[in-house]
Amino acid sequence: MKTTLVATLALASFIAPQETAKPAPEIEGYRQTVRDILSEALVNGESYQKLSELVEVAPHRLSGSPGAAAAVEWARQAMLEDGLENVRLEPCMVTHWERGETERLRVVAPPELAGLELPILALGGSIATPEHGLIAEVVEVQNFDELKELGDAANGKIVFFNRPMDATLLSTFPAYGGAVGQRVNGAREASRAGGVAALVRSMTTRLDDFPHTGGMRYAEGIAKIPTAAVSTKGAELISDLLEKGETVKLHLELDCKSFEPAPSFNVVGEWVGREKPEEIVVLGGHLDSWDVGQGAHDDGGPCCQTIEAVRILKTLGLRPRRTLRVVLFMNEENGLGGAKAYYNDHKDEMDKHVFAVESDSGAFTPRGFTSNAGPEAMAILRDIAMLFEGTGGERVLEGGGGADVSPMKQSGVVVGSYLPDSQRYFDLHHSERDTIDQISPREIELGAGLIAALVYVIADLEETLPRNAPPE
Ligand SMILES: [Zn+2]
Repeated sequence: MKTTLVATLALASFIAPQETAKPAPEIEGYRQTVRDILSEALVNGESYQKLSELVEVAPHRLSGSPGAAAAVEWARQAMLEDGLENVRLEPCMVTHWERGETERLRVVAPPELAGLELPILALGGSIATPEHGLIAEVVEVQNFDELKELGDAANGKIVFFNRPMDATLLSTFPAYGGAVGQRVNGAREASRAGGVAALVRSMTTRLDDFPHTGGMRYAEGIAKIPTAAVSTKGAELISDLLEKGETVKLHLELDCKSFEPAPSFNVVGEWVGREKPEEIVVLGGHLDSWDVGQGAHDDGGPCCQTIEAVRILKTLGLRPRRTLRVVLFMNEENGLGGAKAYYNDHKDEMDKHVFAVESDSGAFTPRGFTSNAGPEAMAILRDIAMLFEGTGGERVLEGGGGADVSPMKQSGVVVGSYLPDSQRYFDLHHSERDTIDQISPREIELGAGLIAALVYVIADLEETLPRNAPPE
């Protein structure tokens, strides 16, 4: 049927370009329902209101912190208030790291700039510097190969990774992907080369004074060294000095600290299916955030969209055949403790997980969805997305789900991700700028409507969405 449809459409677009593509008849039957869902989202949507409550109760929600605990309680209450069913906290163990009080990077040389402070944020997981900090000369590299070629030249130095995100890429997500390795593994590689600290250019295409934090990893058997992200303007300043042939010496002070893993929770609520309640469609985001800004786009807003998606359906009296399960994961940013716990604790019902969509790319205006669905399921998802025509979110691109739903792929669960516009996301990602004033109420509600519509149709279709073959 799908092949015929594709062939028909190809022919139709050849002879009658003015005719728009139509989804398969069963899916076409949902057109008015989707319209109703979007109208409810745009007129009565509560995602923005929910987010304003969340960021007031818990602006900083780093795993293991009091803010994260407050967010868990807030989310539980929000689900109960919206009438979600089987609302519960599911335990998980999470990373516990604290930034501490002192976080400073000052120029020591060249002497004419001595004392100048450059904006930094320690990377999550970093160790502290010695008590009064460390002073060392800076060596700049663009990548790990360049660092290797330096040989002994990095010994005793602060290794400065300054490869910018590739601004020529039209989506900023692959640009981030192409640069973030410096942040994640920079300290490891710098230490291997004999460096005493790793400094990383912030992951943003914007030139400003806001540093962007994020996760990093040490490696077994390689000495841990402190690591921080410097603002892009700070990075440019250091780089310009080095290019002029100056010797740049910096004084780095960090007093961050790691603690034993801490107990926490994923927050789960359902809208139980009317015919096949044992079959599950997961929608969710991650409730934790970094300890700067308010995590409004990453990932508070998207969490609120997924609770809101169920409120919309409930308000419209739309109970799908299968169960919708909202999962707000804990610890996505620096450990994935929540994602691992969810997968392990629900292994027995993974074969009943039909689809799992995560919203973790911001709450900007919709551009579609991504999914790892095989050809048959992808054709169905693309048919559904045709019903979103005019929203900007009518595409389903090949791609993955978010980090939290990724473990489910090993069980053949089709995963997906809500894909908003990416142009502004890295202006604020993991920085002080990720606050609620960066959220457009109209855009966040439209996104909630699309997520609601997608999961509703998937959960309501007569045939279950085909699974993926589990990877070898
Ligand atoms: Zn996130």
